Amino acid sequence: MKAAVLDTPAPITQRPLKIEDVSKPGAKPGYVLLKVRACGVCRTDLHIVEGELPPRLRPVIPGHQIVGDVVDGATDEVPQGTRVGVSWIGGIDGTCWYCRHAMENLCDSPTFTGYTVNGGYAEYALARADFVFPLPAQLDDLHAAPLLCAGIIGFRSLRVADTQKGERVGLFGFGASAHLAIDVLHAWKCDVYVSTRGESHRKLAEELGAKWVGAETDKPPVKLDRAVTFAPSGDVVLAALASLRKGGVVAINAIHLDHMPQFDYDTLLWGERQLRSVANMTRDDARDFLKLAAEIRMKPKVTRFSLDQANEALLAVQQDAIDGAAAILP
Ligand SMILES: [Zn+2]
Ligand SMILES: [Zn+2]
Repeated sequence: MKAAVLDTPAPITQRPLKIEDVSKPGAKPGYVLLKVRACGVCRTDLHIVEGELPPRLRPVIPGHQIVGDVVDGATDEVPQGTRVGVSWIGGIDGTCWYCRHAMENLCDSPTFTGYTVNGGYAEYALARADFVFPLPAQLDDLHAAPLLCAGIIGFRSLRVADTQKGERVGLFGFGASAHLAIDVLHAWKCDVYVSTRGESHRKLAEELGAKWVGAETDKPPVKLDRAVTFAPSGDVVLAALASLRKGGVVAINAIHLDHMPQFDYDTLLWGERQLRSVANMTRDDARDFLKLAAEIRMKPKVTRFSLDQANEALLAVQQDAIDGAAAILP
């Protein structure tokens, strides 16, 4: 099968992914073999390809927002031919303290799709049968792909921030994940304030109904109940913290930050403000989000790339060259 393979991480401008013919994964017990229909491109893929996340499997096929058809290993839950999605969490041990306390997103021995096991920048992919999600018919392949990480983890971020219906919520950064979170927030009747770099990102936020839009570290004109930061920047986290009312929460939706600056406790964190990171996702997050996405007919803005253009897709993410999300259709 054809796949985009990473052997040695390098800056994306050096095109580290090689498009190669590799052997198709064989079926094994507990797993389903998927014929890939689409695979979303996530900023985490960029961190893997560029080596900001240390290599865990070499060589590796990245990609953790897979839409595919079950072609082997079918089960009662996912019969042959079922169209399913696969996300970043590809499996857990089920036995560690976190798994036993309903925090499977924090599992001590997780499997990460497209990082510790091969992912979906390929024609076929193997996935644990209990970590695939049947996809509602309302969501087509291209538009379902970015929901599977950008969407689910954005949704989890809103939960981690303890977002309540009708609140004022800030989104700092407006890429793939934020442009899906805004639809969820509108479904919850929240007012959304967006601070982001890039004129076209600001324009998209306005089009999608943000109540106020400003530049990357601009403070919204009102105190926020909740904020989620998407940019991989510590300065942006501080801008979000500075925008909160007392008792408000900032959820950091980033697996990697450039740095975390020193900040003034008395003015920024005191008053029971909270700063929380968002790690991975649970299967309940995935199911709840996909259900809502189908109900509200969520339609992400997606730019389509071919498998041969995998490096170009990641370059576009790195350079903020596209609005919304990117997806590869093999
Ligand atoms: Zn565990
Ligand atoms: Zn991701």
